[in-house]
Amino acid sequence: MEEALVRALETAVQLVAGGSHYAMFVLVRALPCVNKSLAATARLDARFPYILAYVNAVVLPPSQFFFAGIPRQVQLFSGNVPAATAANLPQSLAGLSYRSVLQDRQEQALLIHNKAEKRVAALAATNTPNDLPAGVPLRVGIYIARLRAVAQGVRAAKNVAEFPECEHRGCRQRFLRADANVIGSDDLGGLRATPEPSVDYWRLLSGMKAEAPPARRFCSPECCAQFTAELNTAVPKLTGKVLNAEPDPGLKLSSSSRVCKGLRAAAQRNEDFARKLRSVQRPRLRACSSTAYKEKLAAMVRMLNLDFLMLYSSSILAESKALSQGLVLAGEKSGWRHRPRFYAASIKNVKKLLDAYHRDQGTVLHNLLLSSRLLAKVKENAIAIYR
Ligand SMILES: [Zn+2]
Repeated sequence: MEEALVRALETAVQLVAGGSHYAMFVLVRALPCVNKSLAATARLDARFPYILAYVNAVVLPPSQFFFAGIPRQVQLFSGNVPAATAANLPQSLAGLSYRSVLQDRQEQALLIHNKAEKRVAALAATNTPNDLPAGVPLRVGIYIARLRAVAQGVRAAKNVAEFPECEHRGCRQRFLRADANVIGSDDLGGLRATPEPSVDYWRLLSGMKAEAPPARRFCSPECCAQFTAELNTAVPKLTGKVLNAEPDPGLKLSSSSRVCKGLRAAAQRNEDFARKLRSVQRPRLRACSSTAYKEKLAAMVRMLNLDFLMLYSSSILAESKALSQGLVLAGEKSGWRHRPRFYAASIKNVKKLLDAYHRDQGTVLHNLLLSSRLLAKVKENAIAIYR
């Protein structure tokens, strides 16, 4: 059985050499599940990473990541570039945009794929890098030569700052940073065109800048996905209704009872979050740096605490009609977090109190019965917070 599979693998390589990539694509997708020793055989095969880079370019839809579909063993910024390939490059590489670099790859892969055998053999004679493993199909060699020629040309023509290191700590390979105008996303796991309406409110509380789009931080979708998954496991992720805890918007409530119920919901959310944090063992980080983890955790705790204090101070005033007259209080209306500019000044005041009186910044606040200097100070200054 195993021998038959290894033969199937070799046949797939031969088919790529003959211009047909489909068998290889299907096989590679299934490799890790089909058979462990077959996957190991493929992993030891030096031709494989190069073949994959080519097959992926022909088959996969375009991606926004610079190294999407290109295994790490395939060096682009170093390695031999044949003179004939270098001589046949677009004129102004410095002006070549990120998008056109990626587009060039896809066009070239298809162009090479569609060429007749004779033409391929003639091209390969002068367009194959001299440092590829023996037995790499001709088409693949021509494709790799082109990738390298463009990557090395762009590297020489552009500013060093445009080639950052991948944020995945196990990777750290340099890549060409995507244009600033690729779609941004808070959720690294995927592009979200319309962010949650409360995103600006939480950003104001956490004090964190909007994250750069994934294609500007990571070399490949795999690095991005591993980093995100690890960070989300280490720091429990809160979104949607869980994060924006509040009473049912459909309930008819007076503003003071809406504030009080909102405060209780926020306290519950914070308590649940603290419990989850305790249950997460100190994570072994392989993809994200401990700085990234600590920053994310600190920002998360800070924003949950500030939100809790916003509602707490609001609840002190909401009890009295005279005191709350003319003030815009947190929690009074449903969806109040969608309009952060109404609360920006109050948030600033609450931040000052938190920084001055919260002794352990890592503690998640949720207990109103606990006597605490911080809560006493917030109560004392409730009016000043909202005026
Ligand atoms: Zn990476």
